[in-house]
Amino acid sequence: MSFDQLNAELQARKEQSLYRQRRILQSPQSPEVIVDGKACLAFCSNDYLGLANHPDVITALKKGADSFGVGGGASHLVNGHSQAHHALEEELAEFTGRPRALLFSTGYMANIGAVNALLDKRDAVFQDRVNHASLLDAGLLSGARFQRFLHNDSENLATRLKRTEARRKLVVCDGVFSMDGDLAELPDICQTAADHNAWVMVDDAHGIGCIGKQGRGTVDHFDLGGDQVQVLMGTLGKAFGTSGAFVAGSEELIETLIQHARTYIYTTSMSPAIAEATRASLKLVQQDEWRREKLQHLITRFQKGCAQLGVPLMESPTPIQPIMVGEADRAMAISAALEAKGIFIGAIRPPTVPQGEARLRVTLSAAHTDEQLDRLLDALSDVMTQIKQREDA
Ligand code: PMP
Repeated sequence: MSFDQLNAELQARKEQSLYRQRRILQSPQSPEVIVDGKACLAFCSNDYLGLANHPDVITALKKGADSFGVGGGASHLVNGHSQAHHALEEELAEFTGRPRALLFSTGYMANIGAVNALLDKRDAVFQDRVNHASLLDAGLLSGARFQRFLHNDSENLATRLKRTEARRKLVVCDGVFSMDGDLAELPDICQTAADHNAWVMVDDAHGIGCIGKQGRGTVDHFDLGGDQVQVLMGTLGKAFGTSGAFVAGSEELIETLIQHARTYIYTTSMSPAIAEATRASLKLVQQDEWRREKLQHLITRFQKGCAQLGVPLMESPTPIQPIMVGEADRAMAISAALEAKGIFIGAIRPPTVPQGEARLRVTLSAAHTDEQLDRLLDALSDVMTQIKQREDA
């Protein structure tokens, strides 16, 4: 069998400006990066607090490797669960105010594992329409009845919960929506779920570290706890600057995951050195309030700058500040023009976002300076004018 068919599909993606291409980063994560040999100012990393390249985190990683080695060596249930993993789990449980926390090697695996350990075809899962792909995949894989409710619309959720009979009902949403940057309306969603005897799972990949007291995330921001959000997932590859993820919750939840979450059971544990690095970054997340204050300052400055320039932003209170541009080819043209000016921001296109809603997903980090942000605004001003002139011609 030849690959002609695949070639034709790949070609079609290129023609629709949907072709995905990797870039080679030749420097650490930081506002100033080298991409494919060229120095750029990056506004597309999820390293929101600037910890991915922090000296304390790097030192902890090195010491962790000295004490525990680099490789996890085996799955947690065989002999890959080190003292480093165990200590990090205990610290994450305390941080999130939950009895227990369980480490996963990635956020994608945490979502797949948690949803599938809890649900099967006797159950029903209710997902916000714009939930992250890993949550949608988790729900589909579980075989539970799968429903998507309108974005942040708890009335629509209530209607769906009411008319569904199931052994278990699980409502799932992002805490901060990854491509839009807005917060889940958790108080309403949790109340609606409680009224219909459903559990709530929140994926706080983009909220943990950035909002809430000491960076405890979206659930804490809304003053909710384990009684309202029974399953809390957080990732470590974004604000924490390392990699991996955790699920926090009750004793019963975590023991159930250990028994049934296949993406926990059948995979090698994360590097213990990464676990040690994450313990160092957890300390910084909690103690460095200035990083969140700095982010807030940059968010406000960026929003004001865009309003002055007439650059259309989505409404978001978080470091995710998407610029709506419409069609995929337009997003690609703007991204390329910005790159020619030394600004690196990836274009987000369908199917990651709906058709006609391509965007430049600007992300801010506490590591950015005002001067760097102003360079972005200047470049945006030039590029948006240039694109408009080209379109009007
Ligand atoms: N959930 C959300 C909301 C995400 O944005 C991401 C990562 N983009 C994930 C889960 C997956 O996390 P990880 O990168 O650790 O697999």
